[in-house]
Amino acid sequence: MTVARVNAKGARRWLSGHPWIYRTDVTERPMMDAGAVLVHDYRGKPVGWALWSPLSEISLRLLDRNPEAVIDQAWWDERIASAIARRVPLEDHTNAFRLVHGEADGCPSLVCDRYDEWLVVQFMSAGLERFREEVIGSLRSLVEPSGILARNDVTLRTKEGLSRETLIVHGDVPREIEVHEYGIRFLAAPWTGQKTGAFLDQRENRHFVGTVARGRALDCFSYHGSFALHLAKKATHVTALDSSGPALMRAAENAARNSLDNISFVEANAFDYLREKEREGITFDTIVLDPPAFAKTRSALPGAVRGYKEINLRAIRLLAPGGLLYTASCSFHLTKPLFLEMLQDAAADSGRRVAIRALTGQPLDHPEILSIPETGYIKGALLEVMD
Ligand code: SAH
Repeated sequence: MTVARVNAKGARRWLSGHPWIYRTDVTERPMMDAGAVLVHDYRGKPVGWALWSPLSEISLRLLDRNPEAVIDQAWWDERIASAIARRVPLEDHTNAFRLVHGEADGCPSLVCDRYDEWLVVQFMSAGLERFREEVIGSLRSLVEPSGILARNDVTLRTKEGLSRETLIVHGDVPREIEVHEYGIRFLAAPWTGQKTGAFLDQRENRHFVGTVARGRALDCFSYHGSFALHLAKKATHVTALDSSGPALMRAAENAARNSLDNISFVEANAFDYLREKEREGITFDTIVLDPPAFAKTRSALPGAVRGYKEINLRAIRLLAPGGLLYTASCSFHLTKPLFLEMLQDAAADSGRRVAIRALTGQPLDHPEILSIPETGYIKGALLEVMD
């Protein structure tokens, strides 16, 4: 049998609950193609099964601590079934949610999102790719979807020596799928949309902000109008802003789909728009800031913090007394403490009394595991400007 041997540091990572072992901690590389491999510690003691990615910096991803485990169809069926079972409560208010959140669900480098009766999957390591048939088999038997699309176009795959492609792996999947969340209907774009077709990770935060919104509202970085649609239920008027024209076209379509006629759409750079409104002396009662990740790498963090601070400071200045700001960051590198520090700085510079009404994170279908920091990336805060 082919095995991988790891040093003490590598084995310790597994013991502390993190599933990755890096290339530098693999002391004997298995002489085999990508797939499942038994891992031994430096004394030769078997410590479990892992996905093996020969080209990746992340060489081993823990599958099972039991050296007796057999990584076959039944193994994948059981693992994926337990991930799906956790999501059942979500079915009360949506038909679009994540069924498998990779490492957090014990299925390293696998993502599977459900949009109504269709699934979108992402295989993000060479080791996992080897089990494509088993994973698709489990999903087909457990969910019985009408179709499964593989959005394997993520750049991460290049690091694994895998091709980037978008392809059907079962049945058929339409270009657009109407889904709903908390009574709001919207179109997901599985083939071309961001992520797997929509930002499912902000669902609960959109609903939450929708319940407290009022007056004149502004949704910056609106994408398909996602927050704007929820704001429009309570606010008198909503401005949905994005720098992408095509995204706003879908936002307008979504507004019509919900018979909401109090949303207007602005194609602009959020930084410029906020500055311009401040100059014009216009105020809002509710503002949402849900920008793309400004810090894609650790080295980009200082510049990103300046960007986050700038939009938050401007938004705070634009709020009428009693106004609400829901602000979020999906940059993994901007940790929770740094996010709060940035907001404190913005509030201090504004000279206004800003209260934290709520701190929010990820929903049930995107579990954030304490011992696996990479599974968490969304931070959010609802702030109230008190004077
Ligand atoms: N709030 C959305 C997700 C936003 S994704 C949701 O819940 O679904 C980020 C969006 O910001 C993208 O639609 C992108 O087009 C837009 N964007 C990026 N840079 C921008 C900028 N400088 N000004 C305005 N919009 C921007």
